[in-house]
Amino acid sequence: MTGFAPHIPVLALLGLAACSVPSQTPTDCPTPTVVIDVGHTEAAPGATAASGATEYSFNRRFAALLAQALQDHGQPAHTVEITEPDPRLDRRVGEIRSITRNTAHGLVLSVHHDSVQERYLKLHLVDGVERSYTDAASGFSLFVPAETPVAGDSLAAARSIADGLIAAGERPSLHHAEPIEGENRRLLDPRRGIYAGDFLKILRTAEAPIVLIEVGVIKNPADEQRLSDPSTAAAVARTIAGGATLPCPVSSRSTARTAG
Ligand SMILES: [Zn+2]
Repeated sequence: MTGFAPHIPVLALLGLAACSVPSQTPTDCPTPTVVIDVGHTEAAPGATAASGATEYSFNRRFAALLAQALQDHGQPAHTVEITEPDPRLDRRVGEIRSITRNTAHGLVLSVHHDSVQERYLKLHLVDGVERSYTDAASGFSLFVPAETPVAGDSLAAARSIADGLIAAGERPSLHHAEPIEGENRRLLDPRRGIYAGDFLKILRTAEAPIVLIEVGVIKNPADEQRLSDPSTAAAVARTIAGGATLPCPVSSRSTARTAG
């Protein structure tokens, strides 16, 4: 990530009941339809892992595991993957919008893998090729819009996902909040590694609740190794699928109150 996030006062984002609270049965609150956005493209593949592999290759693999996990969970999912010859961000935004506009209770999960600022890079040899890596950061980060109409539901979904990841032994990274050039991101929930992501167009323009997930720091060899292991990556995907909930729509909430 690059650029500087402007400091804007935090909106009132609290006070929403999550669908997964024990007092509600699953029928009280519809399961969200999940739109999985595969971050980056073949030609513009995002970050480079410590081994030299592309972020895009990690994103694709993880998105497939997430789609499978959602399916196993009985949760409807659509995958958006932007391919050449038209990799424009506007096209990605448009495709996500065209799905979510037809989905009453949709949640977008944008899949990414993370790197660090240049100052934290060191060099090592991988198969005789010099590659950069870091041991300065590891773990997941979640970004949500904080200044838009979907901010509250996005934050609720991010909290649910983060709680699942933390319970499964994953750790949030706070490196995006460092007061250095290129970071200085505003933490909405430090304990859960959730940041305001309005500086990202995909989040700022989203019409449905959205969480951008940096699954891990693939510039860190330890994170890369873990997330390259298919069974570990599948377990993380299942955890995220399990946390992909949204606050109940108002109609469901009032139905639940009437029924109770
Ligand atoms: Zn990315």
